[in-house]
This record gives sequence, C-alpha cells and structure tokens, in this order.
Amino acid sequence: MRTVTVVGASLAGLHAARALRAEGFDGRLVIVGAERHRPYDRPPLSKSFLTQRPPGDVELADLRLCDREEEDALAAEWHLGTRATALDTAGRTVTVDDGRTVRTLRTDGVVIATGAAPRTLPGPPLAGVHVLRTYDDAHALRTALHDGTPRVVVIGGGFIGAEAASSCAALGLPVTVVEAAPLPLVPQLGPDLARICADLPARHGVRLLCGTGVAALRDGGTGRVRAVELADGRLLDADLVIVGIGVRPATGWLTGSGLRLDDGVVCDAGGVTAVPRVVAVGDVARCAGVRTEHWTSAAEQPATAVRNLLAGRTVARHETPPYFWSDQYGVRLQLAGRPGPGDAVRIVEGDPGDGGFLAVHERDGCTTAVFAADRPRPFMRLRRRLATDPPGSPGPSGTPAAPAGAPGAAFWPYCSAASGHRCAAPTPGA
Ligand SMILES: Cc1cc2nc3c(=O)[nH]c(=O)nc-3n(C[C@H](O)[C@H](O)[C@H](O)COP(=O)(O)OP(=O)(O)OC[C@H]3O[C@@H](n4cnc5c(N)ncnc54)[C@H](O)[C@@H]3O)c2cc1C
Repeated sequence: MRTVTVVGASLAGLHAARALRAEGFDGRLVIVGAERHRPYDRPPLSKSFLTQRPPGDVELADLRLCDREEEDALAAEWHLGTRATALDTAGRTVTVDDGRTVRTLRTDGVVIATGAAPRTLPGPPLAGVHVLRTYDDAHALRTALHDGTPRVVVIGGGFIGAEAASSCAALGLPVTVVEAAPLPLVPQLGPDLARICADLPARHGVRLLCGTGVAALRDGGTGRVRAVELADGRLLDADLVIVGIGVRPATGWLTGSGLRLDDGVVCDAGGVTAVPRVVAVGDVARCAGVRTEHWTSAAEQPATAVRNLLAGRTVARHETPPYFWSDQYGVRLQLAGRPGPGDAVRIVEGDPGDGGFLAVHERDGCTTAVFAADRPRPFMRLRRRLATDPPGSPGPSGTPAAPAGAPGAAFWPYCSAASGHRCAAPTPGA
C-alpha cells in the first residue's frame, strides 16, 4: 500500500496514524480533518476548561494530543480545515473540500475516524443556545458562562449534560437540567446506579426535572433565547441553554459509498468494513453491533483496525470491555463492561449514601460490568480482571462461564451460577 488516508484528525485518527507508523507503514500518510485544529483532547472541555475564567490555565495548547516532535516523526500530510465529502470505494478516492477548493485524493487504504456530531433541536438557531463537542463550542460556551450570571438550562441529563451542569454549578450559576426520561443515565449505568447518581445534582444545588421533554425554545422575538418551554407546559427562564441530547455518528459524507451505515459505519470486531482496506474506528464505528462513545475505545481500536487494514483482512479483534469515566459534582464515576437490563447490582465496597462506593453488575452468576464512584484504585483492579479473563474461559472450578455471545456478557470466570459457587470475584483487593 502506497497511500493511506485517515479521515478525522482527532483522537481515533491520531491513534490510527501512530499505529500505521508503529506497524511499519512507510508510505504516504494523509490526515484530513474538518476542524482547523490539530488533534486535541475533548474530555476537559466539559470539565476544567469551562470552570476557568477566560483565559484559563487550560487552553488549546494544553489539550494538544501530540507535540511538534511527534508530528514530525509521523511524517504525515495534514489537511486541516478540510472536510471529506465523498468516498469512492471502487475508484479508491476521497473527495475533500477546504471551503475554497474541492479536490480528489487517490488512496489505497482508508481509516474512517470522523467521530460524531451533536444532535440539535429543531427550529431556527438562537443566540445563547450552545452545544458542546469541539474546542470552538467549548470556547464560545465558556465565554458566555463567564459573562454575568446567566440562568442556565441544560437540556439532556447524559454525561455531557451532567458534566456541563456540574461545571456551571461550580461557577455558582443557577442551573436546571431537563431530562426526558424518568431518570438520567439509565442506558449508561442501568436503573439502580442511575437512581443513586440522580442525587448528585440536587446535592450541588442543581434542579433536575425528569420525565418531561422540551416543546420549544422561546426568544420573545429577540433572536436570543429567553425561556425553555417544556412539553408539560412549564416555562423555564433561561439566559443560556446547553443542548446535550446526544450525538449522531458523522457518516453523512459516506452516503453513496457502498459502505453499510446503520448508527455508524458497520464493521466487524476488528474495525473492518465490507469494503477491503477500509476500516472504521472511534465514535463513528459500529463494531460487531456496538458503537461506543468513549475516549478509551477511540484510543484503543485503531491499533487493531490498522493491523487489519495492512493485512487486507481481519487478523485481530478488539475485544476489551468498554470503559468510560465521567467527572461530575466532584465525583469520578467509572464503568467498565457491558451492563444489561436484567443485571443485579451489588455494592461490594463503600456506601452510596456516604461517599464513594464500588459495585458490580451480575447476571446468571457472572459479572457483566464494574462501576465505581470515587473508588479509582479498586475499580482499576476489577476492571483489569474483567479484561484479562476472556469470555467463556473456565473458572477455578473448571466450570465455563456464560456463553460468549450472551447479551451484555463480559465474563467473570470466578463466578458461575452453573458451578453453584458464589462470586469470589468482587473482592477489590484481590
Ligand atoms: C466535551 C466532551 C467530554 C468528554 N468526556 C469524556 C470522558 O470524561 N470520558 C470518556 O470516556 N469520554 C469522554 N468524551 C468522549 C470522547 O472524547 C470521544 O469518545 C472521543 O473524542 C472520540 O474520538 P473520535 O476521534 O472517534 O471522534 P471525535 O473526537 O469526534 O473526532 C472526529 C473528528 O473528525 C472530524 N470530522 C467529522 N467529519 C469529517 C469529515 N467529513 N471530514 C473530515 N473530518 C471530519 C471532526 O471534526 C472531528 O475533529 C467526551 C467528549 C466530549 C465532546
């Protein structure tokens, strides 16, 4: 392969570029990124970045994911501020548009790393309404948050909404979070843990309104948001609205490419699409039926996908249990594994009513996921075990764990209902 084009110049794209060079690819490496910035880290954008009065200690240069020396070593051709608009898989070209010129780049292999873009509310754009995905978004939001004492309404109680609300509360701003579901974070944490975590906003002076959607944003004819009208008729005064209602995988440019697109680029567990020498990684990739929106997946998947790209077929799979963290209201939440709807949740250390705790999700006697609130060290130990004990491997009694294809199954060989013995796994110090 003479040329590989990485589309998306962020976390997954950078890791793909690194992996290509680490695997010995010495051909032409092209990186195309819609943003004008070099790869930077997004997690601080909803956390420390927002709480600092501009200009703060955390600025773009501090968020950079690679320094000049590494960039030189990558020897890549960067096309920043340039959007890919089409992929021709038969002709092996990527069409790009930098706002002035549309060009076609010939390529032998493609890494799709275009991530995801925030969902927005219907209706005309209004001043004072923000989303939070990019550095530019965060910069605009931070400037607005530090201008007086705006009344903030956060629409959506997911991780971005929760972290943004937490940052606003830390700034002493009046904040209301509106969540359409009966509880926030149920899809991510499961109902039991979501119920426990739902206490956090109130403890920090944030009003949480659940079970109602948003009917409209009101501007009183000014072009600037003035209030949020809820589906149940209530009207919330607002000077600033943060819309955190999830993201859409950035696949628009792939329409007509022949790739299967279904909530992301459909690929196997190795990131390989149905088209030879086209792989997908990070938030845009739906690997073996699962699309994650976690930093760690975006950083880890490229090593596997790039091996497969260079091999021209799937020779490796990424099977590490998903992991994410979220910092909100002074608490670090961490979850590894694949919690499922029928799981039982068991607290194995600490007390949710009194600070940090560690919990495991269990199904059919097997641990499917590990969760911690402010228990990073024991969490990491359990997470490592979740990752290193492969699916279906026998426990100490020789009894196999649950079948590898079971929904939500991340296996814990030391506990098997079939073996009849009680879980030995959740001993954090073990
Ligand atoms: C504010 C914020 C806080 C977060 N906090 C956490 C956290 O605490 N813990 C955690 O686990 N995860 C967190 N995440 C998630 C994590 O940052 C993402 O999972 C990760 O950034 C995904 O990386 P990616 O490279 O796949 O996609 P992205 O980071 O979205 O990058 C995709 C890049 O591709 C570009 N692009 C899109 N379309 C095109 C195109 N057609 N042509 C060229 N370029 C294109 C985009 O502009 C973007 O630069 C957070 C995300 C955000 C936004």
